[in-house]
Amino acid sequence: MPRPVIDKKKCTNCGTCINICPMDVFGKDNKEVVVKKPGECIGCKACEVQCPEEAITVENG
Ligand code: SF4
Ligand code: SF4
Repeated sequence: MPRPVIDKKKCTNCGTCINICPMDVFGKDNKEVVVKKPGECIGCKACEVQCPEEAITVENG
């Protein structure tokens, strides 16, 4: 199963990944962007490509 991992040292909580993920995998925990539903990820890598900080890696586990 693919799953996205956010590098918190790079992430600025911009919210781009929340907006572009077709499966609604990301969400907010207070002001922090988090991987809310990793099981829904289909591995399309849109988040990895479009994160402006290159903070996301989609792992294949
Ligand atoms: S798109 Fe990248 S920088 Fe923006 S909230 Fe998502 S992981 Fe963080
Ligand atoms: S790889 Fe695709 S489905 Fe998975 S979290 Fe990123 S944008 Fe969403």
